[in-house]
Amino acid sequence: MTAATSPASGAAPRIATIPARGFAAFDAKSPLGPFSFDRRSPGPRDVQIEILFCGVCHSDLHTVKSEWQGTTYPVVPGHEILGRVVSVGDQVTKFKAGNIAAVGCMVDSCRTCPDCREGLEQYCQNGGTFTYNSKDKLLGGMTYGGYSTSIVVDQDFVLSVSSRLDPAGAAPLLCAGITTWSPLRHWNVGPGSTVGVVGLGGLGHMGVKLAHALGAHVVLFTGSPGKTADARRLGADEVVVTRNADEVAKRAGSLDFILNTVSAQHNLDVYLNLLKRDGTMCLVGAPEHAHPSPSVSELIFKRRSLAGSLIGGIRETQEMLDFCAEHDIVSDVEVIPMQKINEAYERMLKSDVKYRFVIDMASIK
Ligand code: NAP
Ligand code: ZN
Ligand code: ZN
Repeated sequence: MTAATSPASGAAPRIATIPARGFAAFDAKSPLGPFSFDRRSPGPRDVQIEILFCGVCHSDLHTVKSEWQGTTYPVVPGHEILGRVVSVGDQVTKFKAGNIAAVGCMVDSCRTCPDCREGLEQYCQNGGTFTYNSKDKLLGGMTYGGYSTSIVVDQDFVLSVSSRLDPAGAAPLLCAGITTWSPLRHWNVGPGSTVGVVGLGGLGHMGVKLAHALGAHVVLFTGSPGKTADARRLGADEVVVTRNADEVAKRAGSLDFILNTVSAQHNLDVYLNLLKRDGTMCLVGAPEHAHPSPSVSELIFKRRSLAGSLIGGIRETQEMLDFCAEHDIVSDVEVIPMQKINEAYERMLKSDVKYRFVIDMASIK
């Protein structure tokens, strides 16, 4: 056991800690490398998890490169965390040592604001605590994510994962899964819906799988012609390669809902035009540069909506995990050792992910 000091004040030890190891980015330009740091020792309501697998989300890359501004270095990314419970505090009722457990994008919130009370902690009005690059209210400094050996989290922000699911494949459900599930459910996608999914990366491929499992007719839009066969295998009923403008235009006015997962700036009008009257396009992709403003007439002439959605609440994350266990859904993953993370980022930037990198944490133990 070691003692933590507040990084801000350099003050005397405040709470007991345990050592952890991981990979961090130390600035916006250099490769990620090994980093040792402290986690808090588990308190009465905490679950201590030995991390087995952590998915690699494009948000990790945006953060590492400070594309959204506001990254505090060193940053340990990773919010698709799956592991084994090592120990629990004496007030923990939901988990016990040996359980498979998971942590997503949030590790705390105020629990009292109207959004938290509704189970939508991601929209906490008092500022929830995200899994990395967020102010750590207990230890001081910033939170460190899942590219690491262990994590300690309040039981209310720990999820249960069925041991029937492949653990590496289940890890990406904690962000890619819930970020696509939440809007699909919010906009009532199901039998009778025709749904467009734009982009076949980590989020997009989960969007295709989940929309298909919910009973929708799924049309996948991709800029990568080589992904067509995979898209069909993953559950797309139709695949449109977006460089074929005529093929895209043919779908005008045909979709009830579009889930847009593209990680880069693009022309939204191309897709708004594909919505039926009263249709909605929900943006989940969060590019570094703003999209050009969409045309107002694309919206008003067919009473269309343009929306956005942020991950999902804890309750709906558990619902999604249970749905995936019931329907045998996991992410299609390429498992890598921690040491290959910089290469994985390079491939992600080239849209060359089939369809989520997942780090095997045994590589740094
Ligand atoms: P990803 O695996 O890299 O997939 C993004 C996909 O977008 C690519 O595979 C590619 O699909 C398409 N794409 C990339 N560059 C493009 C370009 N210049 N023009 C058109 N299409 C392009 O990323 P991800 O992890 O799924 O994340 C996607 C985005 O969602 C990121 O911006 C991420 O930060 C954001 N995100 C948001 C939330 C939220 O809560 N809203 C949560 C997680 C992630 P094709 O090859 O099929 O074209
Ligand atoms: Zn993510
Ligand atoms: Zn709140």
